[in-house]
Amino acid sequence: MRKKTMLIHGGIFGDATTGAVSTPIYQVSTYKQDGIGNHKGFEYSRTGNPTRHALEELMKDLEGGKRGFAFASGMAAITAVMMLFNQGDHVILTDDVYGGTFRVMSKVLNRFGIEASFVDTSNAASIQKEIRENTKAVFLETPTNPLLKITDIKEVAKITKANSLLLMVDNTFATPYWQNPIELGADIVLHSATKYLGGHSDVVAGLVVVNDEKLGEDLHFVQNSTGGVLGPQDSWLLMRGIKTLGVRMEEIEANTKKIVEFLTSHPAVEKVYYPGLENHPNHEVAKKQAGGFGGMVSFDVGSAERAETVLSKLKYFTLAESLGAVESLVSVPAKMTHASIPAERRRELGITDGLIRISVGLEDGDDLVEDLAQALDQ
Ligand SMILES: *Cc1c(COP(=O)(O)O)cnc(C)c1O
Repeated sequence: MRKKTMLIHGGIFGDATTGAVSTPIYQVSTYKQDGIGNHKGFEYSRTGNPTRHALEELMKDLEGGKRGFAFASGMAAITAVMMLFNQGDHVILTDDVYGGTFRVMSKVLNRFGIEASFVDTSNAASIQKEIRENTKAVFLETPTNPLLKITDIKEVAKITKANSLLLMVDNTFATPYWQNPIELGADIVLHSATKYLGGHSDVVAGLVVVNDEKLGEDLHFVQNSTGGVLGPQDSWLLMRGIKTLGVRMEEIEANTKKIVEFLTSHPAVEKVYYPGLENHPNHEVAKKQAGGFGGMVSFDVGSAERAETVLSKLKYFTLAESLGAVESLVSVPAKMTHASIPAERRRELGITDGLIRISVGLEDGDDLVEDLAQALDQ
């Protein structure tokens, strides 16, 4: 089954009881048992809910794994996965991971004795160097935010397999439409489904897919024990969003290509960050491991003042955090998503004050280019 078909026919198609082609919203907390322990597969909705289950099955298929899990947010998903570890365990993460991931590792999970180090995973050797006796896993984000750095998942999988470590990949930016980390050797794939999977800026959710039954049992134990599950209404909204993921990603790709071509030739733009550009340091890896380069682009206009001017003139790019929606969004990472990172660390990472990040949406690509043109020409 090809991807676009799987988006529609993957998981559980419709409702076996009524023939409804859309999975109903099972707004229910508990289920009648015909005798003690004699039930139809559902007992209590924290443990399992039919609508959530349909979403989890769909995600499992889309990522080519063994079991899927839906959580109340991307951060709930990441936290649950980290709960697979014990006090004293060590995890190596991409140095420019999502800010919330950095925060939960360094300010919450550290209090429970889970150690984290952050390295430039786009250079696989830096992972090898960081492996300690208590290292249990490598957590990658690729592409990253906002500099769109790419890590070679297959290369890192060689290292994790040789050292019996779990390989986890935050696949939010690429989506399962363009990139399937499990096929490349990952054990666990994570998503902030709030972004492209939902795709309409109307739901907060997280998804996890694991490649192994035992991992699935362990994660279900954590999910059921800690309870950060996604409700049936939001599970349904996500399935509805996922059905159009293919057409959205294709259209976003086409719009992004136009925009990147425009930005790279504009004199007011000092630098463009996009994995689809041949001069991107990991362009070849991006091309090899993903079917598309995605709709996230960052560009540097030189100063905070310039960035503010551009932002104030844009009409179709909405100033907002988040990404991956039908409407184009714009942000200044240094002042918004990455403001909590100390200025010095931001400079080290290359997140300058003049850096603008856009999430390309589904408006007409020519309107988006014209909008950027008039804003940059001010
Ligand atoms: C947004 C995001 C998260 C966190 O997800 P929430 O749904 O906001 O909790 C994690 N990773 C990446 C890459 C993200 O963009």
